[in-house]
Amino acid sequence: MSQNDPSSQPSDFIREIIDEHIRSNRFGGRVATRFPPEPNGYPHIGHAKSVCLNFGIAAQYGGTCNLRMDDTDPSGETLEYVESIIDNVKWLGFDWGDRLYYASDYYDQLYEFALELIRRGKAYVCDLNADRIREYRGTLTEPGRESPYRDRSIEENLDLFRRMRTGEFADGTRVLRAKIDMASPNITLRDPVMYRIKKAFHYRTGDRWCIYPMYDFAHCLSDSLENITHSICTLEFENNRPLYDWFLDTLELESHPRQIEFARLNLSYTVLSKRRLIELVEGHYVRGWDDPRMPTLAGLRRRGYTPEAIRNFCERIGVAKNDSLIDITLLEHCVREDLNDRAPRVLAVLQPLRVVIVNYPEDLVEEFDCPYHPQRPEMGSRKVPFSRVLYIERDDFLENPPKKFFRLAPGREVRLRYGYFLKCLDVIKDPETAEVVEVHCSYDPETRSGFAPDGRKVDATIHWVSAEHALHAEVRLYDRLFQVANPLEGKADFIEHLNPKSLEILKSCRVEASLATAAPGSWFQFERMGYFCVDKDSSPGNPVFNRTATLRDSWAKIAEKGKK
Ligand code: ATP
Ligand code: MG
Repeated sequence: MSQNDPSSQPSDFIREIIDEHIRSNRFGGRVATRFPPEPNGYPHIGHAKSVCLNFGIAAQYGGTCNLRMDDTDPSGETLEYVESIIDNVKWLGFDWGDRLYYASDYYDQLYEFALELIRRGKAYVCDLNADRIREYRGTLTEPGRESPYRDRSIEENLDLFRRMRTGEFADGTRVLRAKIDMASPNITLRDPVMYRIKKAFHYRTGDRWCIYPMYDFAHCLSDSLENITHSICTLEFENNRPLYDWFLDTLELESHPRQIEFARLNLSYTVLSKRRLIELVEGHYVRGWDDPRMPTLAGLRRRGYTPEAIRNFCERIGVAKNDSLIDITLLEHCVREDLNDRAPRVLAVLQPLRVVIVNYPEDLVEEFDCPYHPQRPEMGSRKVPFSRVLYIERDDFLENPPKKFFRLAPGREVRLRYGYFLKCLDVIKDPETAEVVEVHCSYDPETRSGFAPDGRKVDATIHWVSAEHALHAEVRLYDRLFQVANPLEGKADFIEHLNPKSLEILKSCRVEASLATAAPGSWFQFERMGYFCVDKDSSPGNPVFNRTATLRDSWAKIAEKGKK
């Protein structure tokens, strides 16, 4: 497939920068990237963009890409999240070899770097509390003021910092700050905090540390320790680049990666921020991190999205320097395109209506040989039983059809998929509710081929299953998680924009018997109904399906209109 062939990768501004570095031999021709998630939530489709970019670039340039847990904040980081990241990046199809790293493994070295900055007179212990530090920092239009602790001696700073480490001081009473420039127009450079006291248990280092490095300090040094050449991150870190460079230059480190920023993925009708996704999970607005409505990779995967579809999506959106909102129909289009190619076609009736074929022999069962894919004979076929009592889709019948309804109605003839012509003779109603509960039909034995020898035509072909042979199934239909394209826009809490109809559970579906052995995670096209995948809640004989996507491709329509 083209999306897996790195040479087919279209260029972008990041690759142009790398090409230039290769021409100028800036890193000795080397390309080393990393994907550095913080394990404080499950990875989402936005992370996939970064994963595809970092691993994709490494593959394209014959370089390496590390997976690094950026775990320098004890609060909220867990092993469960680490595992979800490892599992999902692997699932996406990427391999970091033996280069799985943890920023928490660098704590000793980071501490040494901090001591070194103190020794060079470039860092000091400050006793201002968080509010005071903010006050002293100034604003975009006003310079900051220097901390009264800024001119402590190197000895005093070394002593205080060591005592911070041994736990002598309470949380929030002291921090270590870089000594840069309180008047810098770039606020990030106004003596940023490097270390804070936080007497908290870390999921990997336990109680070994009670001071933790700040992201800006830890991140660039972790990159340098791993000999990264290109440190690719999202735009919000653009202002931090001078600080990133300051740490590396001040410490005179040989390995000085180049930071390059790109626009993060924003996707319509969902939210891509771990903090908000945690809110959805903890508030039970969804059924967990892998709820098929979630934009997490675990959710998309359970929904039936394929790694190929997601990688293809990431390739199509490309990378840019400006923030934009990507239309979710493009993601849906990518999964349809992939599943159209690979999903076996099967018959399933989601909202069953009983049909009795009055002229079909009581005890006859025919078997139709039905191919799994119309264009791919190599996918083979299966036998589907046909008998006197069928189920058809309730929507495929109307007692009083309007003009443009061509499917089954009293007196009307349709074709059954893979089989006979069927004509509606009569309807049976529930005496109390007047609801149609059964339709009586006749079939034409001469039309087994799907065509009438006398040349008469029908206007519709409908799907069906044999009542006696079909399997009961639960089918979960999903819709957009939010009702509005951008749930974060405006004053309302994003929770208020949740789509109350994002999940519909159908419990009395009937699917063809061949699906009894379908493995969780496998995909199918239910003919005329969409793409579905077997959920892990299935048990033998009781399959549960998730609707991955309908057959209606609104992206293709938008793209078509664009061409005209
Ligand atoms: P969130 O706001 O969801 O918590 P984050 O940026 O804090 O996201 P990290 O775990 O720090 O999450 O991200 C790991 C990597 O993934 C970073 O390099 C980050 O730039 C990238 N990333 C995160 N979200 C997106 C996104 N929406 N689009 C592209 N890249 C992203
Ligand atoms: Mg983060």
